[in-house]
Amino acid sequence: MDTKRPGKKPLYVYYMIAAIIIVLLNVLLVPALQERSVERTNYTTFIKSVEKGYVKEVNIDTDFIFYVVEKDGTKVMCKTAKQEDPNLVRWLYEEGVSTDAPDPQKQSVIFSLILGYVLPIGIFIFLGRWLSKKMMSSMGGGPGGAMSFGKSNAKVYVKSSTGIKFADVAGEDEAKELLTEIVDYLHNPQKYTEIGASMPKGALLVGPPGTGKTLLAKAVAGEAEVPFFSISGSEFVEMFVGMGAAKVRDLFKQANEKAPCIVFIDEIDTIGKKRDGAGFSGGNDEREQTLNQLLTEMDGFDGSKGVVILAATNRPDSLDPALLRPGRFDRRIPVELPDLLGREEILKVHAKKIKIADSVRFDEIAKAAAGASGAELANIVNEAALRAVRDGRKFATQADFEESIEVVIAGYQKKNRVLSNKEKLIVSYHEIGHALVAAKQTESAPVHKITIIPRTSGALGYTMQVDEKEHFLMTKEELENKIATFTGGRAAEELIFHSITTGASNDIEQATKIARAMISRYGMNEDFDMVAMENVSNQYLGGDASLSCSFETQTLLDKKVVELVRRQHEKALKILSDNITKLHELAKYLYEHETITGEEFMKILNDNEGQPEI
Ligand code: ADP
Ligand code: MG
Ligand code: ZN
Repeated sequence: MDTKRPGKKPLYVYYMIAAIIIVLLNVLLVPALQERSVERTNYTTFIKSVEKGYVKEVNIDTDFIFYVVEKDGTKVMCKTAKQEDPNLVRWLYEEGVSTDAPDPQKQSVIFSLILGYVLPIGIFIFLGRWLSKKMMSSMGGGPGGAMSFGKSNAKVYVKSSTGIKFADVAGEDEAKELLTEIVDYLHNPQKYTEIGASMPKGALLVGPPGTGKTLLAKAVAGEAEVPFFSISGSEFVEMFVGMGAAKVRDLFKQANEKAPCIVFIDEIDTIGKKRDGAGFSGGNDEREQTLNQLLTEMDGFDGSKGVVILAATNRPDSLDPALLRPGRFDRRIPVELPDLLGREEILKVHAKKIKIADSVRFDEIAKAAAGASGAELANIVNEAALRAVRDGRKFATQADFEESIEVVIAGYQKKNRVLSNKEKLIVSYHEIGHALVAAKQTESAPVHKITIIPRTSGALGYTMQVDEKEHFLMTKEELENKIATFTGGRAAEELIFHSITTGASNDIEQATKIARAMISRYGMNEDFDMVAMENVSNQYLGGDASLSCSFETQTLLDKKVVELVRRQHEKALKILSDNITKLHELAKYLYEHETITGEEFMKILNDNEGQPEI
């Protein structure tokens, strides 16, 4: 059974509740009502009622006598226990009471049946129908009830329901342009068919996570006034083999009926992964069948009908090549991480939703949030608003934004982690080590902020450098300086404490990554010239590098990486020992203040008399 179907479980629960209510109704309510409708009286009352002429009809049963008392225009059904009275019928005859009244017991059986079963069951069926219909339509009006097999549960959006427009997507102008064309085609197909152009059948949105791929697809739905089927790749993955394929078939059948329309398959890599020959990974049958069905359907339908297929993925290199060949997803729309301007725009789009102080400088925030994705920027804005609330303010300030960048990048301030004074001193020297090495090198991003307030991410402190402008190319010197800056923390520890700590693990990781890439991918080492030794896959998800060289070369590569890092480490040591008085001075200042800004840092650094007046 299609157990994953949303709405199935609530319905099941609903029937259970209905049954319980019906049983309760019959056990408690109906007898009570019956008791009420037939009043029990004693025999004397019965005789008296007859004598007074209130009774017109009587029904004599085996155990009871039922009779209707008519008094002042109101009728009351009564019963009384039958007594040994052989003259009763005759006496009743003499009193002018007829003895063949309809059996009220029979009536009340029918009455209780209706009240106890027929009516509630009817109401529950009606309610159930209405509920499930409502549930279906809130799920997007997909057809097929709770019992349907292999129906696609694609959500259908129409224009008004997503409410997201291209204007809500900041930056990403290229992507928007390419998608606008598709929207335009759906509106004015003749404009394109006249000249003989046909729209690409499918467009694939590729880019790192959180860059707004899903958002863009929703915006297309908001802009194009056509039905929009949205389904996530994982929804095709079913418990039973063949179900995914059936779902694909159903989705395309629906799409064909609703054409012109847009079909959006999010996270398509879940079903579109490369098929790998025999493979050991059994159980792939299902996915493979689903993919095959998708390929068949994409070939099968007529592009001129106006069905456009959008898909999104952050792992384009893991997709099956068959999906990417012309005639299928032949348009690839890159959705990259936003640049400086893009970040500013995204911040502004999201900041519209919150109250901010007039003094907030979005360009500054965008600069400090280098490398952040759209989703992270949205998060930064929200964190800023939350921080404002926490501090009891009515609007977010620049400081809120600055802090929230750190929160999003480095985690929350850890309020209850207390460093010992010795640890705090080591961390102070470590961070100043980074900052001082960075500051004493040219071609190095200026220091923006240094702090030794521990973060929930585990960092005990950090030095934030912010580039004045964006870099698209990095020179060899810049990369080397970066490595030197990373080694600066450890170098300071060595120089001052003559011992080393675990605090440099992240620095080591970063420095190694850069050094390795410089040699194996950027051709920045004489020995290897311009020979690539690593292939990078998964570029949008951090990049997995796989070595593509002989064992000897690998050994040599490792050696060169060590050499490179060691050179920079030595350079950092030299810079710090040349500036050891400043190192002491700055570390002491940081130790006392816990957080210092780039300006304070530069002021102390450039001040020859020692303590600055801040
Ligand atoms: P993806 O599908 O690429 O992983 P999403 O489209 O789900 O990313 O984006 C997540 C959230 O990030 C969006 O809901 C939106 O709030 C924000 N976001 C991402 N990119 C942008 C953008 N270019 N403009 C505005 N908001 C964005
Ligand atoms: Mg997404
Ligand atoms: Zn460090």
